[in-house]
Amino acid sequence: MRASTTRPSAPRTAVFFHAHPDDEALLTAGTMAMLAAEGHRVVLVVATSGERGQADLAPGEALGEARMAELYKSAAALGCARVVNLGYGDSGLAPGGGIAEDRPPNAFIDADGEEAARRLAAILTEEGADLLTTYDPAGGYGHPDHVQVHRVGGRAAQIAGTPIVLEATVNRDPLLRGLKLARRFYPQLDVRAFERAYSRGEEITHRVNVRRFARQKRASMAAHATQATGADTRTLGVMLKVPGPLYRLVFGTEWYVRRDLAAGTRLRHPFETPPKA
Ligand SMILES: [Zn+2]
Repeated sequence: MRASTTRPSAPRTAVFFHAHPDDEALLTAGTMAMLAAEGHRVVLVVATSGERGQADLAPGEALGEARMAELYKSAAALGCARVVNLGYGDSGLAPGGGIAEDRPPNAFIDADGEEAARRLAAILTEEGADLLTTYDPAGGYGHPDHVQVHRVGGRAAQIAGTPIVLEATVNRDPLLRGLKLARRFYPQLDVRAFERAYSRGEEITHRVNVRRFARQKRASMAAHATQATGADTRTLGVMLKVPGPLYRLVFGTEWYVRRDLAAGTRLRHPFETPPKA
């Protein structure tokens, strides 16, 4: 299926909406670097500063500041033109997954969704955004703040009239294969946690080949030092140790679902439009 496709000749603006610093590194970094390299304006928006993430630093303001500094470093590596933090509190994650009870009063999941969507919509309008990325309805691996990104992002695009909404996700099938392979080297890796996460291959409309941007993606991951050091079980720490060739194999593609396109659509570029039927 190599039908004719249309790509824009004029630069466009893409806004990548993420829950916490470091989510951009795992899910969309290659696409961001690619669009920036093509001359498009790439804007990174986070809902929180991730001040309750796992780290050697105690959760709190200092960790939030450190993680925002890391986010700026990552954004620079990817060629972002602007970084915005909506400033909600990191809702954290309960020990077994799910909603933490000891979350801060301004936690993103407790925010008025309509108000949060209006704030994001204001950025989309100001930027004249052509494209917004959110998350799949499952919120990837199910972090409550990620589910909220899906809700708030979709509504914001509606308010602002942003024409393209892509749900950043992972094709669960190669992810599980990759993790099972990685488990040979890191037996402590919990593969079961990913069995119902993200999206099935058949739901995915966009498979973006980002192999050429593996260096930038790795630099983006490496920028998030607080999330990549210490215990081996932390996802980023494990990912960074994956040897180069395997890394390119596992992380060479980024996946998106565009819900307004027919099932079975297979596109390779975020701004690509499907050939007319
Ligand atoms: Zn996150």
